[in-house]
Amino acid sequence: MVKETKFYDILGVSPTASDSELKSAYRKGALKWHPDKNSHNPETADKFKELSRAYEILSDSQKRQLYDQYGEEGLEHGGASAGGMAAEDLFAQFFGGGGGFGGMFSGGMRDTGPKKARTISHVHKVSLEDIYKGKVSKLALQKSVICPKCDGRGGKEGAVKKCAGCDGRGTKTMMRQMGPMIQRYQTVCPDCNGEGETMRDKDRCRTCAGKKTIVERKVLHVHVDRGVKSGTRIEFRGEGDQLPGVEPGDVVFEIEQKPHPRFQRKDDDLFYHCEIDLLTALAGGRIHIEHLDERWLEVDIIPGEVISPGETKVIRGQGMPSYRHHDFGNLYINFNVKFPETLKGPNGEPMTDKARKALESVLPPRMIDNEPPADVMVEEYQLEDIDPIREHGRARGAGSGIMDEDDDDIHGGGERVQCASQ
Ligand SMILES: [Zn+2]
Ligand SMILES: [Zn+2]
Repeated sequence: MVKETKFYDILGVSPTASDSELKSAYRKGALKWHPDKNSHNPETADKFKELSRAYEILSDSQKRQLYDQYGEEGLEHGGASAGGMAAEDLFAQFFGGGGGFGGMFSGGMRDTGPKKARTISHVHKVSLEDIYKGKVSKLALQKSVICPKCDGRGGKEGAVKKCAGCDGRGTKTMMRQMGPMIQRYQTVCPDCNGEGETMRDKDRCRTCAGKKTIVERKVLHVHVDRGVKSGTRIEFRGEGDQLPGVEPGDVVFEIEQKPHPRFQRKDDDLFYHCEIDLLTALAGGRIHIEHLDERWLEVDIIPGEVISPGETKVIRGQGMPSYRHHDFGNLYINFNVKFPETLKGPNGEPMTDKARKALESVLPPRMIDNEPPADVMVEEYQLEDIDPIREHGRARGAGSGIMDEDDDDIHGGGERVQCASQ
């Protein structure tokens, strides 16, 4: 006993019908109710859809079992109604060329099948500020829609004729004499330009010039959610191109975050590079960070805490909002300490004893240097600033860095070797 017979009734078969009985019932009905054959009677479109849905369910043994046991409701709960194949899709697969029936409805066809208009893909570049705050972008696209004047027929009702040149296939097999051989090849039918249809010029729809579709501007509202990640795809199913006899395509926006001048983002965390002077690093001070939502963060650097060059600190909860959650990542601050260029006087006078003693009084004592043994002779040298012009000439031709070609310890015929710093 089956729970409902509605789908069987639509196909006009009994609940005990075999697969081949279902198939022939669908074939008969589909040919009868197909909208192309019933343009004078739009009500048949629904009939055609019902028929397709009924066949789609009953031709799938799993769905048929669900339906027999629980009725249509059971299908919805069983997830079988979602992703149902469009009636035109089913029809095209049933009657169109291409593969046979085997495994035709066993999933996946909907996405890989040829009977769907192409997906319009677009990379939507968004600023980090907008990702931080969230926004709705209005994006306009040009898409093909079924011509409203001729309902996608391309011309007056009945004006479209199957192309006699190719018998509606759109392609023709031609023969060509190549010396002693005759070569057969396929080519686009020249009579109909591959359309498979022809029409007299005077019957052609003037709105679409016989192309069956017109280009329309459509504005889509793309929700850029707070904290959304680069690479997230936002899909608008069926909002893409419309073509006669195929399922409308999709529109897909891929979110791409624009680079930001102040912050780098890694997952939910923000990274900020901050340059402070040596005095602030040692004796404390204050820094300000302009955030992504017009707020300014004020951060005190505690006197005596000492920030080392390259050190990273964190402000918790001041990173990015996490996508579809209510918490925030962290803000990591990487410090660069700007040392003074010199502590000599304004005219190059040596540092005063007073200044030196003041530094010695607050800084840790000098480290014990790498002392030579007592019995070796020690040579004294002075450090010089590097002269980029002179040093560049010496470095040329041997990788990078500063070279010392006069080093006595280096053998091998004047080969330039990088001077190890010792
Ligand atoms: Zn038209
Ligand atoms: Zn043709």
